[in-house]
Amino acid sequence: MKNIVLFGPPGAGKGTQAELLKGKYNLVHISTGDVFRFNIKNETELGVLAKTYMDKGDLVPDEVTINMLEAEVDKNVDANGFIFDGFPRTQSQAEALDGFLNTKGEKINGMVALEVPEDLLVERLLERGKTSGRADDTDEGKIRNRFNEYNTKTAILKDYYAAKGNYFGVNGVGSIQEITERLAKVFDTL
Ligand code: ADP
Repeated sequence: MKNIVLFGPPGAGKGTQAELLKGKYNLVHISTGDVFRFNIKNETELGVLAKTYMDKGDLVPDEVTINMLEAEVDKNVDANGFIFDGFPRTQSQAEALDGFLNTKGEKINGMVALEVPEDLLVERLLERGKTSGRADDTDEGKIRNRFNEYNTKTAILKDYYAAKGNYFGVNGVGSIQEITERLAKVFDTL
C-alpha cells in the first residue's frame, strides 16, 4: 500500500490536491474536516460534538478524531492506499496512526507537506469563506485561532516524520496544476 499524509497549514490546498492525486495513484482520500462536516450536516452525535470545537477553530479532541479516522480506514478494506488530509494534527494522533497501521502490517510511506506563507493563507481562507459557507472561514479571529492551533500542536509533526526520514516539503505557491506536478514527483518516489 501507498499511505501518504498530505500536510500543511489551513488553506494550503490539501483538499484540492488530494482530489486531483487520488485518481492518478488509485488511493482513497480521507479528509477528517470533510467527515466532520458531513456529520454536522446530518446532525449525528459526532457532528453535534465536533461542531462546538470546529466553529471556534479549535481542534476536536484526539480520542474522538482517532476513533473516527480508524472507522473511515476500516470502511475501505480493499484500498490500494490512502491520502490522509487533515490527519494527524497532533503528536498523539500521529502515534495512534502508526500503531493502527502497524496492526495491519502497514505504515506511512511519507508526509508530503505543502509549504505556503501565512499571509497568503489568510487571504485564501477569507476568499473561500465568501462561498464555502464555513463558519470557520469567515472571521479573521477564528482563522488566526486555527493558525495558533496549527503552530502550537500540528507543526511539530514535521519533526516527527523528519526523524524517520519521511518528511518531504513541496512549495505550495503557484498554480493548482504546477503544485499537482510538484506533489506527483514526490508521490512517485514513495
Ligand atoms: P483546514 O482547511 O483548516 O485545514 P479542515 O477542513 O481540515 O480545515 O478542518 C476543519 C476543522 O475540523 C479543524 O479546524 C478542526 O476543528 C477539525 N479537525 C479536522 N481534522 C482534525 C484533526 N485531525 N484533529 C482535530 N480536529 C480536526
